Amino acid sequence: MQSRENSLPISVHSLVKSYGSNKVLNDISLDIRSGEFMTLLGPSGSGKTTLLMAIAGFVAPESGSIKVGGEEITVLPPHKRGIGIVFQSYALFPFMTVAQNVGYPLRIRGVSKGDIERRVGQALELVRLGPLAQRGIGQLSGGQRQRVALARAIVFQPRVILMDEPLSALDKQLREQMQLEIKHLHHEIGATTVYVTHDQREALTMSDRIAVFSQGRIEQIGTPEQIYRTPQSAFVAEFIGESTLIPVHVQPGRLSIENVHADLPLALQLMTGDCSLVARPEIFQILQEGVRPEKDFITFPATVREVIFQGDSVLVCSEVAGKQLVSARVSSTRGSHGFIPNQGSSIRLAVHFSDIVTVGRR
Ligand code: ADP
Ligand code: MG
Repeated sequence: MQSRENSLPISVHSLVKSYGSNKVLNDISLDIRSGEFMTLLGPSGSGKTTLLMAIAGFVAPESGSIKVGGEEITVLPPHKRGIGIVFQSYALFPFMTVAQNVGYPLRIRGVSKGDIERRVGQALELVRLGPLAQRGIGQLSGGQRQRVALARAIVFQPRVILMDEPLSALDKQLREQMQLEIKHLHHEIGATTVYVTHDQREALTMSDRIAVFSQGRIEQIGTPEQIYRTPQSAFVAEFIGESTLIPVHVQPGRLSIENVHADLPLALQLMTGDCSLVARPEIFQILQEGVRPEKDFITFPATVREVIFQGDSVLVCSEVAGKQLVSARVSSTRGSHGFIPNQGSSIRLAVHFSDIVTVGRR
């Protein structure tokens, strides 16, 4: 259908939108590359939908600009922006067939009957709904309806596709399957895609880059790996992944949890002073007392409080400095190297230098 060359970059600059005294978009700037899959991720009410609707043309910003392919579109009406949209609710026409729903954007654009038939056929092939073209919407499952909505958004070969939590009505298994299908579809059609979700795992799975939203501002933009591995604020660290923020004190060459100290290499660039260690369960290795750590690890003595079997892994909750609770996740497979301690035992928690990430205290 569409090639990657036809997709366009989006440039949002200093966008502001308020409802009364509520600054919903507080000076948002964001550059999305041509063909990129960009996800807006953030808690409910953080302004994701408002930004998407501003790009689509349904919300008028107070100030700032939006450019698509270098062209200022802030003043263009929605139907002149050439943007495909998939909403949270499917917003399909219940009394039309699948093919009629998908063909609708072409009919209102005055495309000829033959062309409509051909392009609807192609769009339905892409979402694997070809055989259901003549079905009524009422005879479809949730996942199939979502595919119809997708086909309708791509049928007029938009330069940009916007999706607002399109999978939130589906159950977990179907949602995970559709995540991969949408990713694949994006690869096929190449249109620049802006995708909204509040589900961090969905964002990590699908995106080229993620913009993390909080209260109308972008906290951080980066690849899934950058956002996950090197969060730049306590908010991002807590919102993405499973993490506890442990208060630590860092001086050159030393990291302390309460009165327990560990030596760091002087070359390690970390924020100094009072800050928080981003303690993701997978960064910890558990060592039996007396076992020496490998090179390039810091270790802390700890006492095991709870050992919880969770199927694929075992969560070991322990206490450092008699006060700070730390969760470590180890593999549950019997053949793994991981050591699973007993409740009440004394262990050492080890963290590789490269997994030590600190953020400012809130
Ligand atoms: P998100 O999509 O991240 O959940 P929204 O962009 O929908 O967030 O909303 C951001 C904030 O703007 C919320 O506080 C919401 O209540 C408010 N808001 C959104 N639309 C309107 C509106 N039409 N009138 C007044 N307040 C609104
Ligand atoms: Mg929303």
